This record gives sequence, C-alpha cells and structure tokens, in this order.
Amino acid sequence: MQRRRRNVKIVATVGPASSDRETLRKLFSAGVDMFRLNMSHGSHEEIRERHRLIREIEHEMQRPIGILGDLQGPKLRVGRFAEGPLQLATGQRFRFDLDEAPGDATRVHLPHPEIFAALEPGARLLVNDGKISLKVLSCDAGHADCEVLNGGEISNNKGVNVPDVVLPLAALTEKDHRDLAFVLELGVDWVALSFVQRPEDVHEAREIIGDKAAIMVKVEKPAAVKRFAEILEAVDGVMVARGDLGVEMPISELPPIQKRLIRDSRRQAKPVIVATQMLESMISSPMPTRAEVSDVANAIYEGADAVMLSAESAAGDYPVEAVAMMDSIARNVESEDFFLKAMQLDIGIERRSVADAITAAAREVAEATDVKAIACFTHSGTTALLASRERPGVPILALTPVKATARQLSMVWGLHCVITEPVDRFKLAVVNAIRAAKADDFVGEDDHIIVTAGVPFNTPGTTNILRVAPTDERQIYESGVE
Ligand code: PGA
Ligand code: MN
Repeated sequence: MQRRRRNVKIVATVGPASSDRETLRKLFSAGVDMFRLNMSHGSHEEIRERHRLIREIEHEMQRPIGILGDLQGPKLRVGRFAEGPLQLATGQRFRFDLDEAPGDATRVHLPHPEIFAALEPGARLLVNDGKISLKVLSCDAGHADCEVLNGGEISNNKGVNVPDVVLPLAALTEKDHRDLAFVLELGVDWVALSFVQRPEDVHEAREIIGDKAAIMVKVEKPAAVKRFAEILEAVDGVMVARGDLGVEMPISELPPIQKRLIRDSRRQAKPVIVATQMLESMISSPMPTRAEVSDVANAIYEGADAVMLSAESAAGDYPVEAVAMMDSIARNVESEDFFLKAMQLDIGIERRSVADAITAAAREVAEATDVKAIACFTHSGTTALLASRERPGVPILALTPVKATARQLSMVWGLHCVITEPVDRFKLAVVNAIRAAKADDFVGEDDHIIVTAGVPFNTPGTTNILRVAPTDERQIYESGVE
C-alpha cells in the first residue's frame, strides 16, 4: 500500500483506545494521514510514547505521516458547591463572584478575574457545554448578577463559555507554554491553537514556534469567526472546531460558517480540517448514523482538505472501523463526476504570481489531456499548496527534499508527498518525478505527467517551469532538455 485512493485526508486523534503500536499501524493502514496528539488528555510521557510509535510506523511504511500537537488553551470553570449538584430554574437570579466559599442555589465562585473584567450587562454566560445559559444583569470587577435564560443542573467545576465578549486572556496559558515547548521538542509538524480570539494570539504563538512547526487555528470562538480574514493571514492552516463553536454560537448557525471557512481558507491556499462529532455514534457502535455519513460527505463536497476523528479514534470502541468508514465515504463521494465539478466551481481565487498561474495552468493541462499526474517540486510546501488549491482531477505528487514539509503537507487535499534527494538540474527533477510516480503506482511506461519546478533550484518561491513529460525515462534523456 503506497498510495491512497482519495484526495481528501483523514486526521485521527490518538488516545487510550489507539495508543498501542498495533492499533496505530492499523489506523494508518485504514487511512489516517495525520495523527492528532491532544494536549488536553494524557501525560507528557504517554504523548511522547505515542509520538515515538507513529514515527516508527512512518519509518516502517516509508510514507511521511503528519503529527498535530493540539494545545488545550484556557479552560474556564466554575468552583465547587457546598451540597453537590443543584438545579438552576429558568427565570431565577444567580451570581458568579470571586469569593472562594462553596456555592449554593444563589451563587458560585468563578475563579477568573478576566471574565469579570470583560463582562457587560446583556452578555451571556454558558455553563456545562451550553446546557445552561445566563444573561448578565449587572456586574463589576468581582461579580456578575445574572438571570437564568435556560435552566439545568449545575455542579462542581463545570465548564464555562463566554461567547459575547473578547476576554483579556493570554493566548497561551502556562500549561500551553509547557505543552508547546514539549511538542516542539518532540518535533510535531503542526501546532493547533485553541480558543484563538484575535490575530495577536497567533502572532504570540508564532514568536515561540518560529519555523519549527506549522500553525493551525482552531476556530471555536465567535470572535475568531468575526475576524477570520485577519486570523487566516496569520496562520498556516485552519480547523473548524465545531465542538466549542457549537456551544459558543447557536448550533444552527454552524453549517454556513463551516462552508465559508472552508472556501475562504482554500482561496488563500491554506488547508482546512472539519472536526468534531463527524462519526460520533461510532464511539460505541460499529455503524454510524445516516446523518453522520452525510455530514462527512458534505464536508468533502464543500472542499475540506481533511476530515477529523476525535473521541471516535481516541477513546471509542471502534477506532479502526471509524477510519475505514471515513475512507469509504470519501472514495464514494470522489468517484462521482459531480464531485470534481463541485471542486472546480469558481470560488474567487485571485491569481497574482507566476506560481499561482503555473499551478492553474497545470490543472488546465490535466483537464484538456490525459496526463496521469501532476508532480511539483517544493521546498517550503507553497507550490504544492497552490497545486492542491486548484483541485485538479489527477493526483498531485509533492516532491520535496525537506522531511518536515512532506509531513506537514500530508493533510492537504490531493497531495501524495514524497521525500526526494535534492536536485540541481531540471532533467534530474523530471526523472525523479517519473520514478516516484511509477514506484507509487500513479503512472505506467507510456503515460505523461506534468512537472512543475523552480529554476534555479534551491531558491524558495521560484516556481517558473511547467513541463509535460513522457513517463518513458529514455525519452527524457534523449529530449535534450537540461
Ligand atoms: P477540542 O477542539 O476537541 O480540543 O475541544 C475541537 C472542538 O472544539 O471542536
Ligand atoms: Mn475545542
């Protein structure tokens, strides 16, 4: 098994249900292109071991595998109650404050001064995954008096969401700083940032991360949706984090937001993952629901680069089956003509550079002829991202001498990543592309492929050649092109 038979990629979260070598190997074989290490769960030692096993499998399989380190971000919680769980009734008054005394039916400790600093009358507080909602009537630096809009059970340390105001919180908590240093030392390819509210949150992380990993924003706050254009500028990739987003916003508003985030990301050639509850029922059932299958399919029709499994693969009873199901849905979706038509609808891509135009031309040549693949040489990954953005109807080989680039690109739509020797002549690049395409079963002896590259080699951002080459190597040597 050297190649996937689909374009969309699969990301799977690793957890207790998928931490042993055998399961990880089965997950990869079933279709996982990138593994997610969630820093919200598991000790550093457990995560180090998972990382090590994935790298071992990568070595064994001779295919680059992406690894995403997902930082927890700030978790806001209420304090404790004197007499256990209690019911808040719709319409009643309730107070949050900075008093550490155990809570009762009238008040509870909320140990986050930043929340009080930002609250204003009319803003909402959501408790317990949004099951309870309250509206602030009056507040100051140390308390908020609220009316319960939607009652329900409240108990010790339940999570709190504050969707309506921008919280003056550092983008990275102390735990995030420790976790970030740890995952960078491990050598993850992507770092995901939770609860991003503003572009500055990304800049702050970038200061620390530098070029050690690519940065993915988890869009899970209304503030991030509002400022998405600026945030998109600052990041390398996007996750539509529907879990928390669905708590912070009315859940019925999510589908159009998902569509818009996917389209905007692709326009800028930044890969985008759709995440959370994709095959939720497979946590405890070997079969998903029809609606879940449609949800995965629709994310693919919308042009997502990747679909993600969370608890299904991390803690569920059927992690391998869930991956196999995603793979099967993807292959069925992509086998229909209208899939490619949907991919090629005009989404308003603005093409300004030579590289933009050459990658678009590669797609046009692929449409007009029966070339079997597009091979692009890339250092930073940019050219491959541009090629993928065009959503051509033939596979794209991303050839790079940079291992980290190959791993980062493993979650990008349609890219088959290959680590090659560095080359200094175009002819050699073409020969390498042909060999890679043959080795992984993309072409035969009598086919043609498109090769794009930048000459001179080893100068980033210079893609300036497109060649249609026969896959018979002898013809390359006889062609006279250097
Ligand atoms: P989480 O992020 O699983 O880390 O909460 C994803 C989401 O909120 O959808
Ligand atoms: Mn989340």
